[in-house]
Amino acid sequence: MAILPILTWPDDRLVQVCAPFPCVDDGVHKLAQDMLATLYATGGRGLAAPQVGDLRQMFVMDVTWKDGASTPMVFVNPRFRHPPQETQTGPEQCLSIPGITAQVRRATKVDLSWVGLDGEAYFREFTKFEAICVQHEMDHLAGIVTLLKVDPQQRETLEAEYYS
Ligand code: ZN
Repeated sequence: MAILPILTWPDDRLVQVCAPFPCVDDGVHKLAQDMLATLYATGGRGLAAPQVGDLRQMFVMDVTWKDGASTPMVFVNPRFRHPPQETQTGPEQCLSIPGITAQVRRATKVDLSWVGLDGEAYFREFTKFEAICVQHEMDHLAGIVTLLKVDPQQRETLEAEYYS
């Protein structure tokens, strides 16, 4: 396993729309293992492939490992089964925009389908923190970071903080 360098804003690769994987092969397994190793090494809870420079549709998530119980999940070619209804605002950090906390509107639950590392299709509803994390990583696969989700005034404040 390798710990991969994480791209930081405003790297152009963070604003690209990612392409789906045609199949789940050994390369996909290796990328997933490297991304999980990178997630743990950097202290995150979610990491999307474009953040390590791979512009394909995959993200990894483990929202419980910091509490002592690891639950790694790998999502290949994930899709929302219904568009998320953004109804609440909460704080979010991003490994690609270190030191910045944005207030982002999100849905409280999402319904997701994806392909697992075994090549099978999965469907599940996610709520609470998992729902926020899933939406954050899904945004990355669409070339959207938190700074692009907030109103111009908040973006200006956060960018001033980021670049200072
Ligand atoms: Zn992020």
